[in-house]
Amino acid sequence: MTDWSGKTADGTFAVQIQAPVLGALDRLCREAGAFETGGILIGRYSDDLAVAIVREATPPPLDSRRGRSWFVRGVGGLGDILGNSWRAKERTYYVGEWHFHPVAHIEPSGDDFDQMLKISHAKKYDCKEPLLLILGTGKQDGWRSLRAFVCPAGCAPLELLPRVGAADEK
Ligand SMILES: [Zn+2]
Repeated sequence: MTDWSGKTADGTFAVQIQAPVLGALDRLCREAGAFETGGILIGRYSDDLAVAIVREATPPPLDSRRGRSWFVRGVGGLGDILGNSWRAKERTYYVGEWHFHPVAHIEPSGDDFDQMLKISHAKKYDCKEPLLLILGTGKQDGWRSLRAFVCPAGCAPLELLPRVGAADEK
């Protein structure tokens, strides 16, 4: 299993999702069965700020609510998790959200983007360009299919397109 890298068509935003994170997400999606689920993404930006590096995906907080086609992420426990990440030797912080949609064809909903817009403007997240990662039930190159978006405050969301063969670039 390798990292997943994506970049917007205009080259302004890039993301790298590390292989252990992909493994953890796959397990969390499997556990959710026919229901939506989600959590937050924790990571950091590269030194030149060009790439968001996702280091961790949290399980759904216990106060989350879910259905077959909707999910409201709770907040329980996230303060402690983010506090520990911030104080860790290698500092990491909130970089976005992940969702599982239990369908083969991955399509972000209007609600998904509305929520990301709110987050991009929210002081408590302090993240003006949050990522939205959506996983589905399908397979893509032997791996669970996913789509990634960056949702900059004040702009329309942009899709991060997979960069084939870019996994080993640093
Ligand atoms: Zn969603």
